[in-house]
Amino acid sequence: MMHEMSIAMNIVDIAVQTAQKNGAHKINSITVEIGALSGVVPEALEFCFEAATKETMAEGCRLEIVYLKAQAECSACGFKFETDQFLNLCPQCGEQVFAAGGQQLQVKAINVD
Ligand SMILES: [Zn+2]
Repeated sequence: MMHEMSIAMNIVDIAVQTAQKNGAHKINSITVEIGALSGVVPEALEFCFEAATKETMAEGCRLEIVYLKAQAECSACGFKFETDQFLNLCPQCGEQVFAAGGQQLQVKAINVD
C-alpha cells in the first residue's frame, strides 16, 4: 500500500504542476493510464488517491483509471491475445507466451477550472 501511496502523491504532483502552468485554480478530474503489468493495483491506488489530494488544488477531484491490458503473441501458432499476466499459456496451443507492453503508468489528462 505504501507503493500506491507514493504513486498517488506523484500523480497529484504532476497534475498540480500542469494545472498551475495553465493558470488553473482547481482540478476536477485526473485521468491515468495503468498497464496490467505495471505492478499497480487500481483499487489500492483509488484508495490512496483521496488522501494524496488533501489540501491541494486537486482535493475532491475524480480519478479516472484507464486500465490497459498487455499484448501477447504466441510464437508457436501466432495466436494473439490480451492478458494481465507476464507469463501465459497460449489459449490455442498451450505454449508459453510472454506478454509485452502493459507497463504504462502515466497521467493522461487533467480537467481543470
Ligand atoms: Zn499458440
